[in-house]
Amino acid sequence: MKILVLNSGSSSVKYQLLNMDRQIVLASGLVERIGEATGSIRHKRFPGTDRNQTFVEEMPIQDHATGLARVIALITAEQTGVISHVSEINGIGHRIVHGGESFSAPTLVNKDVIAGIKAQIPLAPLHNPGGLAGIETTLRLLPGVPNVAVFDTAFHQTMPPEAYRYAIPKDLYTELKIRRYGFHGTSHFYVAKKCAQILGNPFARTSCITVHLGNGCSMAAVKNGQCIDTSMGLTPLAGLVMGTRSGDVDPALHAFLADNRKLSIREIDAILNKHSGLKGMCGHNDMRDIHARITEGDADAELALRVFCRRVTQYMGQYLAILDGTDAVCFTAGIGENDPEVRRRCCATLSSVGVRLDEERNAAAARGQITEISTPDSPVKIFILPTNEELEIANQTMEVLA
Ligand code: AMP
Repeated sequence: MKILVLNSGSSSVKYQLLNMDRQIVLASGLVERIGEATGSIRHKRFPGTDRNQTFVEEMPIQDHATGLARVIALITAEQTGVISHVSEINGIGHRIVHGGESFSAPTLVNKDVIAGIKAQIPLAPLHNPGGLAGIETTLRLLPGVPNVAVFDTAFHQTMPPEAYRYAIPKDLYTELKIRRYGFHGTSHFYVAKKCAQILGNPFARTSCITVHLGNGCSMAAVKNGQCIDTSMGLTPLAGLVMGTRSGDVDPALHAFLADNRKLSIREIDAILNKHSGLKGMCGHNDMRDIHARITEGDADAELALRVFCRRVTQYMGQYLAILDGTDAVCFTAGIGENDPEVRRRCCATLSSVGVRLDEERNAAAARGQITEISTPDSPVKIFILPTNEELEIANQTMEVLA
């Protein structure tokens, strides 16, 4: 079985072609700057192996269809390819950011599903159009190959109303569907399932807190295999501090900035999404740069790191409280997997509530490896569990096709 996984943004498409029988990535790549004067495609064949080859092309890429047609040519051409014909692709899994309340599981794409994804555009105006463009393109370019939509919001659809409803007038929920949705669901689901596997427990009897710290950051509380709360909200701006996103702020901030800086709602939204978070606080959004600045004595970088880690700790406390008993805390994504100092700071005050980090194990953890980093006597285990959203999308695509 070969599955093509597409993550289509407004002006970019990330792709992976996976051989599911052997659980390996055959090819991966990134199409960027779609619709701009010069676009680019970075195509890797056999990434992560000693046969890894990278091919880079620069050219105008008018739209998603042009970009994806080129990707299919690269995947099938003798010099750059890994299969001889597109008929070898058994299915296509599309990452769709917002499924609203309509989609709580991966879904085989048909006309109704396309209409359903379109109906969520008001909730994800920057993201869902890209995903739709990806689906519409593969339907045309690869007729006969089934498409599956895998939603970033789906895993969180099990949250109870007391977790997903905001304390705002009811009609704003009933008419506009304003509520907490949560994102990164594919990653939280993958990591929580891995956690169950490692513990040797059935997923339906596993409870854990998943901590996804990458460019975007979010956490989820998983009770008996189901998400019962998550830190992102109506949009991916809520919750933890992120690279350029503020996370939680006082909701009166918009009115305050409009009054005192004469900013429009759009301008305020851009400040909170693109110029806040770690970058807003210290000028850097990459955690590696922040550590470098701290080493040089930069007080802004140190404070940004403190705010970042304290927020994670606070959510950890919330989730320990609502879970009423948890098996594990699982760190994942770029920062969660690779940054011992962040993990140390996030867990530093949690010992008395049963989350005991083993500082030596934490510091010695090898990159990209599943590692237990709690002390032997810690009531709650702490793991580093590398996420793999593409593999999870491919797995879910296979399950739907089966
Ligand atoms: P992701 O969105 O999961 O790809 O994570 C990307 C982020 O992970 C980057 O912006 C960095 O802040 C962070 N990151 C990647 N490698 C490291 C590392 N070795 N140490 C600390 N942070 C890292």
